[in-house]
Amino acid sequence: MPAPRPQAIRRRDDAAIEIVWSDGATAAYTPRLLREACPCATCREQRSIPATANPLQVLGPAELSPLTIVGMEPVGQYAYKISFSDGHDSGIYTLDYLRELVVDGR
Ligand SMILES: [Zn+2]
Repeated sequence: MPAPRPQAIRRRDDAAIEIVWSDGATAAYTPRLLREACPCATCREQRSIPATANPLQVLGPAELSPLTIVGMEPVGQYAYKISFSDGHDSGIYTLDYLRELVVDGR
């Protein structure tokens, strides 16, 4: 069976991105979910640091203001580059990875 591919991608009123997959699944991705799952090297490195490493860290302005997706452009046939309102745009999300985020049930 071929890997599922997006049939439609649309932006919902609540700022989430909704993807209708070729296998019939419909999945919503909130900006926060995608941002926290950003696959770029910098974010992966940050996530590998235990949260307890800096107990005094407070939320920065970027975390307090509503996060939105400002751009989503195809990269080749199998990935999307997603730009966020906090200025971060170095994450390349493959279709496989986007499907994994669904399977996680988050
Ligand atoms: Zn990143």
